[in-house]
Amino acid sequence: MLKVGDKVEWVKPSPNYRNWYGTVAELGEHKVKIEWIIREGKTKFKWEPYKDVKWIDVIPVNLPQNKRRSRDFLQDIDYPAPYRDWHMDGNCYANGEKLFVGYSTLRPNAKTRAKLEEACRDCRVMIICRSEALKTDSVGWWGGMDEADRLQWAKTLPLKEMAE
Ligand code: SF4
Repeated sequence: MLKVGDKVEWVKPSPNYRNWYGTVAELGEHKVKIEWIIREGKTKFKWEPYKDVKWIDVIPVNLPQNKRRSRDFLQDIDYPAPYRDWHMDGNCYANGEKLFVGYSTLRPNAKTRAKLEEACRDCRVMIICRSEALKTDSVGWWGGMDEADRLQWAKTLPLKEMAE
């Protein structure tokens, strides 16, 4: 039986997903609230079904550091410039059907992902949205992608010219 303060690991549906580690923050009747480690110095709270987490003795400390180093190139990217209130032109802001289900979705399942992709499809500010998420180190769903896909996309962007 889990208790507050226990260390846990996410039970991955397949080996292709990244490893997630966290700490039990609160116990509910059917779900448990976990403070997940996004990377060093950054965490996020999320309620999870009990079956999706398993107790571990210690959290591996090296993984968040490796992740952080792999993101260093983000500060050298020549991002497209945003304009004032760009988000007001986004489909998720403008549509009245509330298709968008949230920026905080860390690991959308196939059904949620399809819904998010639909919301972002043809969004006129998608590239700005995606770039702003990278610049501000935001997690979750932005610009038609989850964080992992966004990092892959970032590797295709041009780098800033170095000052003389
Ligand atoms: S790309 Fe998606 S998340 Fe970003 S503003 Fe458009 S609809 Fe919203």
